[in-house]
Amino acid sequence: MKQQEFDKIYELYEKNIVDIEDEHYEKLVDVLNQPRTLKSNKQRRTFYASDASKCQRQLGWAVSGIDPSNPFDEPHSLKIFELGDAIHETIDARYKKIYGWKIYDEVPGEIYIPKEGKKKNDFLLSYRVDGLMIRDGGEDILGIDTDRILLEYKSIADFPFSTGKNKDGNVYWYGAKDVPKTDHFAQLQIGMHGEGAEYGILHYYNKNDSQEAIHLIKYDPEYTNDLIGKLWHILEEAKAGNTLDRPYVAYPNKKKTALQKTATIDGQVHKSDWQCLYCNFRDKCWGLNEFKE
Ligand code: SF4
Repeated sequence: MKQQEFDKIYELYEKNIVDIEDEHYEKLVDVLNQPRTLKSNKQRRTFYASDASKCQRQLGWAVSGIDPSNPFDEPHSLKIFELGDAIHETIDARYKKIYGWKIYDEVPGEIYIPKEGKKKNDFLLSYRVDGLMIRDGGEDILGIDTDRILLEYKSIADFPFSTGKNKDGNVYWYGAKDVPKTDHFAQLQIGMHGEGAEYGILHYYNKNDSQEAIHLIKYDPEYTNDLIGKLWHILEEAKAGNTLDRPYVAYPNKKKTALQKTATIDGQVHKSDWQCLYCNFRDKCWGLNEFKE
């Protein structure tokens, strides 16, 4: 807002604002942040579709039942999930308007991978797709001849959604409206594999301005079997007690209390990979904050 408008509203604000004591403020936020459901005590025994493109080292620890050294800020993550769920519901309701197609919501499934060859472990790959469209007398949609289409809805912030261009118009960043995010692509492929669907839709919704992007994707058996093979390898190594190498690079600060976004080494600027900056095992992985095994 411009200064003049600010001055006007600020005067009113100053006149009417009620000071909240910290103690009362915190009391309210504590109640608002209470989870609406009880925390699951389920131990992880399977892989999830969303694991498909995660760091092999992080995943190896997770499937070994090791607690994260940097658990996520739960109230904050819960708020993000709840907002995502609300957006998903509205997208889902819009898909339900398509005549002659039935939409099944939140379809759960499991893919069982039996032991084979030299592999010592079998495993389950769990998934839950946002929607499955099954033809019920309707016409083809999007010009494809198929009877079932998988649906994945993704609400996303403005930056990862958009195309980033510098002042000369050159692209320096590709967003989800240009091409799906790798983890979402992998998740969709696993869902199609499990549900026997030939096609899937990745529907992106920009939380900032409600712009959308719809990607229609074909099932790719070669890519999906390769993903499953990678998960299998991680499981075999984890069960054998091996920690896999770091696939990413990060730069701890001098006191080893945190990872730096960038580090200058021999005059060259290096960036830490974002996967490490946000990883819930970063202290364990990089020996930060005197983390002991
Ligand atoms: S900190 Fe980086 S390399 Fe280590 S487990 Fe996490 S993502 Fe992987």
